Amino acid sequence: MFICCKTKPKKDNKQQKNGSTAANSDAESLKHSKCEEDIHKEPFQEIGNKTQLTEKVKKLQEIQNKVNRIKTYRNQGNINLSIDIEKSFVTSLIEQDLPTTYFVEYRWAVNYTKFLERIIQDVPQTINNDKLLTEENAQKEQVIIKSEKDTQLLPGLQPDRHYVLLNENSWIFIHLMYGGGPTIMINLETQVMSPDIFNDGQTNVTLHTANPSKISFEPIIEISKQEIQLLEDSDKSTNQRQISQKTNSIKIQPKPYELPYVGLNNPKYYCYMNSALQCLLSIKELNDSLLKQQKQQNKKFTMAYQDLLKLVQNSIPGSAISVEKLQNMCLNKFKYSQQQDAHEFLLYLLSEIQEELVGKKKYQKEEFPNAQQAWDVYKSRNSDIITDLFAGQIASKSHCSQCQEISEGFDPIIDLNLPLLKKSIPREIKLYDCLQNYFKEEQINDVWKCDKCQFVNKSVLRKIQITQTPKYLILHLKRFTQIPKSQKIIDEVKYPEILDIKEFCEENVEYTKYALKGVISHMGQLNGGHYVAYAQRQNQWYHFDDNIVTKDKNNQHLSDKGAYIILYEQQ
Ligand SMILES: [Zn+2]
Repeated sequence: MFICCKTKPKKDNKQQKNGSTAANSDAESLKHSKCEEDIHKEPFQEIGNKTQLTEKVKKLQEIQNKVNRIKTYRNQGNINLSIDIEKSFVTSLIEQDLPTTYFVEYRWAVNYTKFLERIIQDVPQTINNDKLLTEENAQKEQVIIKSEKDTQLLPGLQPDRHYVLLNENSWIFIHLMYGGGPTIMINLETQVMSPDIFNDGQTNVTLHTANPSKISFEPIIEISKQEIQLLEDSDKSTNQRQISQKTNSIKIQPKPYELPYVGLNNPKYYCYMNSALQCLLSIKELNDSLLKQQKQQNKKFTMAYQDLLKLVQNSIPGSAISVEKLQNMCLNKFKYSQQQDAHEFLLYLLSEIQEELVGKKKYQKEEFPNAQQAWDVYKSRNSDIITDLFAGQIASKSHCSQCQEISEGFDPIIDLNLPLLKKSIPREIKLYDCLQNYFKEEQINDVWKCDKCQFVNKSVLRKIQITQTPKYLILHLKRFTQIPKSQKIIDEVKYPEILDIKEFCEENVEYTKYALKGVISHMGQLNGGHYVAYAQRQNQWYHFDDNIVTKDKNNQHLSDKGAYIILYEQQ
């Protein structure tokens, strides 16, 4: 909900008619409105005219009443009703055409959304916006961001990663509901804003609604009979006709926003493709974004994936469909007559879609003063959903044996290819050990010339660290090896349901916790064998074996012996 409010219905609201707050939610008009003298007045400052004041007081009262009502139900133990009311009310607030100028810490917003979606049951804690502020500002009650060079915020903050922006009414509501703080708001009056309102090279604050690749889904707006009753009770003075208008204006949309579980037919050796697709199909942000892509002939992979999504969307749960289009498109790369590699296919498909969305780009190694700048540049050149969801960044530090200088290089990553750490006994490998092995400091036999002293190192001490964590972490276990001989390592790799990669990240990396999202498993030997996948649909784990889909009742997804690609989602 907070993380998904890109599409907002255009409403001809009263404030617009007054001509004093002509701020629409979309970036263009918002940007435009800042350039005009007539700027939206913030609540804590002067208020324009009487009509506006009455409107505001009314709105505040409505919000306060709603908060009281929700809290009352919650105290009475009527949780479901309280969530119903809260969800529909906060959705309506978010959809109001007002500038989004209030900060909410991202994790809090995600948890809150999950709570409203009933994915988690714990009632949200108090709002923890202090995380966004430098130490000396974290204790304040209210922080007003005035200029591009504002130093009250922590440097390096990014929208949809560290915070989301809300409009005033939504903020007032959640602040009254859950307390905490501080209130962090952008003062529009002192701003002459570009679409990226602030960009001092360190902090990158952009308007939430200005972000083109916003996570978005159609919220299910539910209204219970009790709620309609309450609407009537709450406003006895309103006549019957108005009441019916009020209730009619609330749309009931039973449209599911998550895909049903659907099998994929396998006419020949396509289990590598099917298993990879089933994992991708569990990523809601990817589905939502690719479904919204305009039809374009030159985006053939994106369109083929979109067609697949639509087919799955309209299929009966448990049925199986054909993926012929994608199969044919991949024939050049993946010959149909033989078993192919699911990892290779996964990366191929992602890179083809990425290329179609942002254009073909050669990745050139460039020098950057720090990881953040390298990342900002990379992100600005790749503003696509694949980068948003899967890309991370790794810094590699090389130690010069002559001058002792440490040189850093930064590379974007889409996945981690982990060699299996072999242990003699027992024949059980832990994923975490493989990661430790992958990230350990190593003496590499590599000729490397130091930039500082120009000394040519014959071998170099090198350490890699994660400097940007991806939203979805793809871990590829290198089971198939060519050297010393072509073989498959069949040992079981134990992987956790919750993975914390803090140890492998640079100190200032904040969100390092991941939860298992999908597993692609390979059974059998090097040539031949079979791929299956475990993935979620509507919060339920399924076992996808081509056209046959079964509920994963025994939680096999947690300990499949053939795990080959493991997908984690950032928490
Ligand atoms: Zn040197």
